[in-house]
Amino acid sequence: SHVADLIAAGEVVERPASVVKELVENAIDAGASAIVVEIQRGGMGLIRVTDNGCGIAPEELPTAFLRHATSKLRTAEDLAKIGTLGFRGEALAAISAVSRVDVLTRRPGDTTGSAIHGEGGHMEPVREEGAPEGTTIRVADLFYNTPARLKFMKKDSAETAAVAGLMQHLALSHPDVSFKFIKDGQESLHTPGDGKLESAVYAALGREFAKTLVPVQGRGGDIEVRGFVTAPVNGRGSRSMQVFFVNGRFIKSQLLTAALEEGYRNQLLKGRFPGCVLEVLLPVTAVDVNVHPAKTQVKFAKEHDVFDAVFHTVMDALDARGG
Ligand code: ADP
Ligand code: MG
Repeated sequence: SHVADLIAAGEVVERPASVVKELVENAIDAGASAIVVEIQRGGMGLIRVTDNGCGIAPEELPTAFLRHATSKLRTAEDLAKIGTLGFRGEALAAISAVSRVDVLTRRPGDTTGSAIHGEGGHMEPVREEGAPEGTTIRVADLFYNTPARLKFMKKDSAETAAVAGLMQHLALSHPDVSFKFIKDGQESLHTPGDGKLESAVYAALGREFAKTLVPVQGRGGDIEVRGFVTAPVNGRGSRSMQVFFVNGRFIKSQLLTAALEEGYRNQLLKGRFPGCVLEVLLPVTAVDVNVHPAKTQVKFAKEHDVFDAVFHTVMDALDARGG
């Protein structure tokens, strides 16, 4: 029902950054190697995400906007080993319920593309239309039909900052994808997508800062840890600069924060915290991502093993550096 859609929308779509996150995750799931994100007025005016992924078949275009319509989960078993970023089939339904949406898409190999327009969850019929390969989704006038929600939005500048932070995380967690972020007509981030974490770190965080980082790499059993941490003494770290990815997914984790900080032992100045961009890779069955709707939390099957792998990797790298 329409009311159920609006309630579900409230859980998925909190602010412009949540829309961007869902759209970019869909683009990544579609196998895109280049993703462009444009926002105007903090994303409240406009959000446009363009990808060069697999596109959407014309007959599947209306279905993609129905709740629980996902092409990514086929069995209950799939839920236990989630490899794709999206899996709930709620994002497009939720976003379209609270905005005006336009999709233009073409599958590689199709001679023509298709388009659909919707307002407040009511989708018009699919049109045939010329389109580049891939998908462009345009979300305008977010929350135009939910005035209560609109009233509680922060200033545009705060929403822009939230999207910019998210874009950094997305770019860092997917070095194999080229990201471009344009806010109010100005390009503010552009990563090469050459597959190297180092390139993504340089492009997303800036050369000057990236130069001060210490590379780390290690493993414990089937848990692999790699990335960069701030140098103990000169490091300009802070807890807000601790960026963790688990199997390509940006997450928040007290366990990983504790393991990182333990790796510095007594090398940190009083009251200082390390910063990092750390990637943890482990078998998909060893981690449960289905803990929270916003999907920024995970549960590890073997917490001690994950802690030890991160702790030892960081400690060894700092020791080797002679710190
Ligand atoms: P989920 O990602 O959980 O499957 P969504 O509501 O986010 O659910 O998307 C619904 C469906 O629309 C996806 O399963 C996918 O088939 C299709 N889709 C959405 N965005 C894209 C895209 N950028 N490229 C290709 N297909 C897409
Ligand atoms: Mg999705």
